[in-house]
Amino acid sequence: MSSEDYFSEGDFEFDDFGFDDNNVKYDKNIAIVDKLNAEYRNNSIPININYSNEIANITFNLNNLNPEYIQSLDMDINKPLKIKVIITGPNYEIRDIENAGILEYPIKRSKNDNLETIINSILEWLNNPGKWCPICGQENITAGSRPVTCSLATCRFVASELTGLVNLSKYIPSHYQLIDLLWALLYTAVKFKLDNDVLKPFPEGSTKSKRNNDVVDPFPEGFLRDGQKDWQLLDQVLKALPRLEEVVQNITIINTNLEIIDKNTAVENYLRALNINIPYLIRWLLGTLRAHLIYVSSTINDTVLSSNCQKTFNMIAESPERMAAFQQLSLQYPVVDAYHGSPIENWHSILRHSLRNYSCTERQLHGAAYGKGIYLAPNINTAKGYARGNGISWDKSEFNGLRILLKAQVINYDIKTVNDFCYVIEDENKVRITALCLFK
Ligand SMILES: [Zn+2]
Repeated sequence: MSSEDYFSEGDFEFDDFGFDDNNVKYDKNIAIVDKLNAEYRNNSIPININYSNEIANITFNLNNLNPEYIQSLDMDINKPLKIKVIITGPNYEIRDIENAGILEYPIKRSKNDNLETIINSILEWLNNPGKWCPICGQENITAGSRPVTCSLATCRFVASELTGLVNLSKYIPSHYQLIDLLWALLYTAVKFKLDNDVLKPFPEGSTKSKRNNDVVDPFPEGFLRDGQKDWQLLDQVLKALPRLEEVVQNITIINTNLEIIDKNTAVENYLRALNINIPYLIRWLLGTLRAHLIYVSSTINDTVLSSNCQKTFNMIAESPERMAAFQQLSLQYPVVDAYHGSPIENWHSILRHSLRNYSCTERQLHGAAYGKGIYLAPNINTAKGYARGNGISWDKSEFNGLRILLKAQVINYDIKTVNDFCYVIEDENKVRITALCLFK
């Protein structure tokens, strides 16, 4: 491929790229693009850059990336990712991203970077979407599988307030079961917290007292008033969302109305009319979620899940790096199924922290008993025993009244087994979560 394939002759200013040596400007830029292409070819991620004047068209070929990840990011593996970068003075603006899936949201972090860093960060995101905060770019302490903001209130605020970051008109109809689940779990955690406040103080040594205050962790920062958690307002907003079925029906009407050009704004306005804070809270629930949860209507290939679960989500919770490590181990050692149950009020938090973080803390009721690690049971009925309901549930939810456990695969080598009913796994590379099971 010659340099002409990347650039058409144009009189752009090379200072725009951040270089100060004007004498060899043209060659330098061609060299950079050549270098990028060569690097990514070596990593099996072919890219193509087409440059003319103030516009750079970048095309990524996704064929060689992990197909499970590309699909979980809502991208079509068979289509290339196309990005148009508009260069305006010293700044760059990304416009017209085709086939971006939920990458529409993290790519924004590169807004003021140069062309090379834009390309680099997009490739990093494609390879490891959960590793960096999409707003400030800080590396997340534990990488999940999904773009997730760091714990800074400002980052969460930006990710949840900016309407352009998650296209609700597209996302809600295709993922309404997920939003239903996330909404219902927050509803339960908030109610549980409020009910326990009424019942306080607990008797010394009560198991309930260990988890009464921390179930709404993280708390949506948009409901802080002067640093105080506004439980009443949050409670009101949670009650204001209709059944997701009804929401999807109304969004479909907006989306099919040819007279409405800006569907996303129209959907935002519809949701705001229900309650002004609803769009924020949906985006916050998505922006803080660490795992991909993909609703599946049937689990016939899995006899244990199909005979135990009313509803199932396939789940990817690990970063691509951890998935690769698990894959390596599975070539050498036996893999067994295992299950993890927890009371219903804990799941809002579990889905936003890693399972490891969840073990051996006051959040986990039974965890600390057998030492540090991830607690999983070989038998689904053991996990069911821990997955208690609490009688509180969002009555508009499709998942109303169901309890939750998750299914994982475990590398059965050099792990601790306690009393035949529990694995305690210290090395998190030996665990791969595969599904979330909702049952009666
Ligand atoms: Zn951040």
